[in-house]
Amino acid sequence: MSNKKQNDATLEKKEENLADKLFYKKKNYFEESDEKDIEKCYKFADEYKNFINISKTERETCRNAVEIVKQAGFKEFKFGDKLKVGDKRYYVNRDKSVAVFRIGKNNLEEHGIKILGAHIDSPRIDLKQNPMYEDSGFCFFKTHYYGGIKKYQWTTIPLALHGTIIRKDGTSVNVVIGEDENDPIFYINDLLPHLGQEQMMSNGYKIITGEQLNLVIGGKAYKGEKIKDKIKLNVLAILNEKYGILEEDFLSSELCAVPAYKARDIGFDRAFIGGYGHDDKSCAYPALRAILDTKSDDTILTLLVDKEEIGSEGNTGMKSKVYEDLMDEISESLKCTPRKVRAKSKCLSADVTSCFDPNFPNVYERMNASMISCGASINKFTGSGGKSSANDASAEFMGEIRKIFRDTDVIYQTSELGKVDLGGGGTIAKYVAELNIDTIDIGVPVISMHAPYELISKGDLYNTYKAFCNFIK
Ligand code: MN
Ligand code: MN
Repeated sequence: MSNKKQNDATLEKKEENLADKLFYKKKNYFEESDEKDIEKCYKFADEYKNFINISKTERETCRNAVEIVKQAGFKEFKFGDKLKVGDKRYYVNRDKSVAVFRIGKNNLEEHGIKILGAHIDSPRIDLKQNPMYEDSGFCFFKTHYYGGIKKYQWTTIPLALHGTIIRKDGTSVNVVIGEDENDPIFYINDLLPHLGQEQMMSNGYKIITGEQLNLVIGGKAYKGEKIKDKIKLNVLAILNEKYGILEEDFLSSELCAVPAYKARDIGFDRAFIGGYGHDDKSCAYPALRAILDTKSDDTILTLLVDKEEIGSEGNTGMKSKVYEDLMDEISESLKCTPRKVRAKSKCLSADVTSCFDPNFPNVYERMNASMISCGASINKFTGSGGKSSANDASAEFMGEIRKIFRDTDVIYQTSELGKVDLGGGGTIAKYVAELNIDTIDIGVPVISMHAPYELISKGDLYNTYKAFCNFIK
């Protein structure tokens, strides 16, 4: 090799190193990781699938989370209980949200509480309070959808019915029907394409309207009584026998239709998971596992809250005072001033984000979109338009989080939901931040978010879990 060529080669190598040093490049989990780590990742994904298959509503998720933490030695907490270092407790709010916490030996006024906050409600089809009617050989439930859905996606798929009915004597009965292979399922009709010309010309919101989301629940007439609604009577007779309910009992019920699908691996290589409610169980489950699997001298709090999908409202959503009250109880019980503790507390708002979809590239801005399998995705801010309604985390907090992930080999990325002017969304982050707590959004990128069957990457799920563990460590 001539001298000149050698010089060129050295120069090229130097520049390559300089580029490596100076350029920022996202990492893909599957490219970066060895088979041993990927095995661990797939195992975590199996555990996650088992959890979400039996946790479709907030009530079920709350109940299953309590079962898991009880087995890990956590005891129920009631307001007024005295706490001490080493205590492992959980607090259930109206069977729809649960707070799991562990008291660490570090002083709360100096170190604050480390919080992982996720939501456990997912978009679905709720029943109306007076839902039952018969028409043209069918019996139906009228519904009122919950959360931001594309209504047409919820037709012609198998649906299961989950929920709780309070009978007139005040007793309650739980309903889960449509999950077992031998159960019947429920169904929402759509129009045949042969007669769908007009429908297909209408805009997406109107392809199926809210009042067309009626659930097929029966079609067999009751024999022996000369009345008009024989099918409805027959269905009520079945419900009365099975659950001991009357039609009036629907007035005090919370019943929802959710996809009857089980979570499954997607792809020949099983890199992805299809499932209902990845938003936000793919963050809630890792947040729950993190507090069980990680040792820490700090006080750790995992919040699994309800009602995020409709704006964090009510007494079970993040806007409720109950979560602030709980933190105050923890602080006061340990003889600390609540406002001093909150000022030092830090929170990862654990929620999913959108994922770049090569089939719809135009709504994303590539440089600031979450890429599939590139790890846990941090949203410094959410909101819409000019950051309206955003929790915009500080550069300092972002720097702190980034350093933790870098030092512990968590694969992570940052993103916005999509192009600036196209839309937006929010999470629980801003309600936590309002309590004077440093808060940032981080979670799993999701394809087809809010659809009955969503897609995530196992690599992103696993790195979100690792991110949570290393944040609270
Ligand atoms: Mn969410
Ligand atoms: Mn959502």
